[in-house]
Amino acid sequence: MARELHTARLERKTCISESAQCFHFEFVVEDLESFPYASGQFVSAVANDPRGKQQTRAYSIASAANVNRVPEGFFSNHLADLTDIPPGGTIQVHGPHGHFVLRQPITDSILIATGTGVAPMRGFTQWLFPENGPDAGLDRSEGKDIWLVYGTRHESELYYRDEFEALAARKPNFHFLATLSRADDSWKGLRGYVQDHVARIVEERAARLGQPLPAPPPDPSLLPAELNFDIYAYICGLNNMVAGVREKLTSYGWHRKQIVFERYD
Ligand SMILES: Cc1cc2nc3c(=O)[nH]c(=O)nc-3n(C[C@H](O)[C@H](O)[C@H](O)COP(=O)(O)OP(=O)(O)OC[C@H]3O[C@@H](n4cnc5c(N)ncnc54)[C@H](O)[C@@H]3O)c2cc1C
Repeated sequence: MARELHTARLERKTCISESAQCFHFEFVVEDLESFPYASGQFVSAVANDPRGKQQTRAYSIASAANVNRVPEGFFSNHLADLTDIPPGGTIQVHGPHGHFVLRQPITDSILIATGTGVAPMRGFTQWLFPENGPDAGLDRSEGKDIWLVYGTRHESELYYRDEFEALAARKPNFHFLATLSRADDSWKGLRGYVQDHVARIVEERAARLGQPLPAPPPDPSLLPAELNFDIYAYICGLNNMVAGVREKLTSYGWHRKQIVFERYD
């Protein structure tokens, strides 16, 4: 079935990491009065490559999208080369799409991202703790603990770091853990892969609540819709990382429905 295409005009493009060639884009969908989406969803962007072949790639909505230039990749470079000088370059998009959205009601949640996988997490935190617009000052977290475990190689690739640090300073139930896999000596923060820090969170929380690990499996007579979990994990990034975190959580007895994920490759 043909998807309805909309024209999105680039309003602003900001380079948020020179070394990683990561750009943050703000688009206006020209032919729609509003573009309703749930935080965590993505749009599909469509353009012809230099050989005239139509290419489609997905990009998460971070309230604004953020995209890495991939060496030799067509679409990431096509976007990064769009000009935001008026009248502004346009792209064709369809969507929003996807099921990578926060489960309701809100529970304790571990958000786990590497690289540009942080985009939907920014959407989640902006929805949970809105700072701008008509909902500014609302707190939709219901006091649940929200951890953001964000891994990159270098400090310069921690996108939106200031925003997350400011949020953690403002909200005692929002915990920001940035971890670097190739930190230089000056880095005083966490090191290593995200799954190690996720493991620590799960173990400490279970100990605090007196819950056994591995967690006992849910009652098999329950229908999937009746399963009630008191914590979810949301994972976004490249497949290797997603697989590693899923494996770790499964080893703690987590149910597959508790682990919500989006793979970028
Ligand atoms: C649901 C979904 C949401 C996505 N959201 C984003 C987003 O918000 N920002 C974003 O930058 N990308 C995102 N992606 C990836 C995006 O769709 C493209 O794959 C990416 O921009 C590369 O496209 P390309 O045409 O330049 O290169 P291609 O020729 O298509 O890809 C080359 C290789 O680059 C690798 N790759 C893919 N994505 C990345 C990445 N982000 N960083 C490093 N390497 C990558 C893959 O292994 C791939 O094999 C998303 C993918 C999915 C499925």
